Amino acid sequence: MSLETMQKMLRKAMSQRYAVGAFNIVDYNSARAVVRTAEELRSPVIIQTSVKTVKFWSPETIVTWVKELAVDSPVPVALHLDHCKDLDCIRQCIDAGWTSVMIDASAKPFEENLLMTRQVLEMAEPAGVSVEAEMGQIVGVEDDIFVSEHDAHLAKPDEAVRFCEGLNLAAFAPAIGTAHGVYKGEPKIDYDSIEEISKRTGIPIALHGGTGLADEVFRKAISLGCAKVNISTAIKYAFIDGFVDYHLENKKYEPLKPLEAQYTRICELVAGNIRLFGSEGKADL
Ligand SMILES: [Zn+2]
Repeated sequence: MSLETMQKMLRKAMSQRYAVGAFNIVDYNSARAVVRTAEELRSPVIIQTSVKTVKFWSPETIVTWVKELAVDSPVPVALHLDHCKDLDCIRQCIDAGWTSVMIDASAKPFEENLLMTRQVLEMAEPAGVSVEAEMGQIVGVEDDIFVSEHDAHLAKPDEAVRFCEGLNLAAFAPAIGTAHGVYKGEPKIDYDSIEEISKRTGIPIALHGGTGLADEVFRKAISLGCAKVNISTAIKYAFIDGFVDYHLENKKYEPLKPLEAQYTRICELVAGNIRLFGSEGKADL
């Protein structure tokens, strides 16, 4: 299968009440772990990259890896650009071969956010690329976007509906109480808003800040309309701990061994998430 867009994947997920995992990869090894695990479980999967990762490697390099992994894959794989504020970077990724992009203009006032989201849709649609947009501000630190908990505000359903009206979004990320990074306390998830926004917009909801949420939180959010779950921080931990733990235990300078341990650690994490989100066996679009 070649790379797929998120649109089809997420519509099916929403209608059948499961979610597709969107995993932030940082290199070929992590991308390989995510795709191979999805194949083992016959699950659709979204490979996500942060803007930092795109700048580190170059868009063309990342597309080469992911296309190589997806081309003979029996499962649909989407390549998605996570939180991007910069239209030039979005343009570069669309041109390079990303199948999906997220415009994050959520720090701007409502009308400006809407305008930028429209501009991105105008760029993406002719290329057959799907779009995710954000409204309200999701707390935490990611990609140098820092939103203090004090400043954060949740998305109000009426505004969310007004925002989404007439926009052909593949996914919508309203701030509903989750946070990026590691949770300091029990997050207060606004389930009523998830349900109302999902019902009134009909757009699959993207759940950001998936690392560290309890299993019941995922299940409930998915049952109410979340069809995409982002896993970033947990992958960072598996990536580094998988490598370092192996080295500390073995102290042998054979790089392929800790890389293999890192790969296995990421596979275990991804498999657990795919099962929890209910996308196992849902590879057919
Ligand atoms: Zn996010």
